[in-house]
Amino acid sequence: MAYLIAANWKMNKTVAETEDYIQRFLPLVEDTKNVEIMIAPPFTSIFVASQKLSNTDIKLGGQNMYYKEKGAFTGEISPLMLTELGVSYVILGHSERRHIFGEKDSLINSKVLSALEHGLRPILCVGETLEEREQGRTLSVVERQIRNGLAGVEAEMSRIDIAYEPVWAIGTGVNATPEQAEEVHSFIRNLINEISKGNDQGTRIMYGGSVNENNAESLIKQPNINGFLVGTASLDPERFSQIIKVSQEV
Ligand code: PEP
Repeated sequence: MAYLIAANWKMNKTVAETEDYIQRFLPLVEDTKNVEIMIAPPFTSIFVASQKLSNTDIKLGGQNMYYKEKGAFTGEISPLMLTELGVSYVILGHSERRHIFGEKDSLINSKVLSALEHGLRPILCVGETLEEREQGRTLSVVERQIRNGLAGVEAEMSRIDIAYEPVWAIGTGVNATPEQAEEVHSFIRNLINEISKGNDQGTRIMYGGSVNENNAESLIKQPNINGFLVGTASLDPERFSQIIKVSQEV
């Protein structure tokens, strides 16, 4: 199973900036092996990114989507709109969606179901807040998010990836230590193995939260870390390519 190294650009980069990024990024990763690369630009940049990446192995992702195909859902994007542009992944349940936009497990579950129905590969994001960690609730919070987020799709587990992103580590510059991350990743691996009845071999458990070119190596060396979801450091093609390089050498 190739590592999945994914860029979550969040609300960054115009169309012109996207074109410039891809032009600078492609030569930096042309020799990449054993690592799957995915970029999730803002929706407005997906069309141009799709054109620029069409002759490469680099995958495109949506940062979110609504679960309906079309209709009166102002401001939302549907799975059909993503697949038409060649998008193959969709990030669901990101902590910013949960905490800023109030998304609950049940809505996230509807999105996971819809993504699978439309042939998109969901990356389900889970993770505890600092308060939850300090109260010793990390594993129970992650378990609830996974069980509820994946309700009804347990048998499809190998078509889904999971990103463990402790909320206190996202965009803060404070990453989880490799040991802290590995503890939760091995818990998630056991949990998804149990709920999928052993059908989880194709599922990558990615780590996200202040991953950069300096800490990537010690994190990816952990046995249950199968990739990264990278925010801040993915905005710079040099830094993102370094993370990819470090990961393919482990
Ligand atoms: C993210 O938002 O998915 C993320 C991990 O961000 P950062 O790398 O900036 O912590």
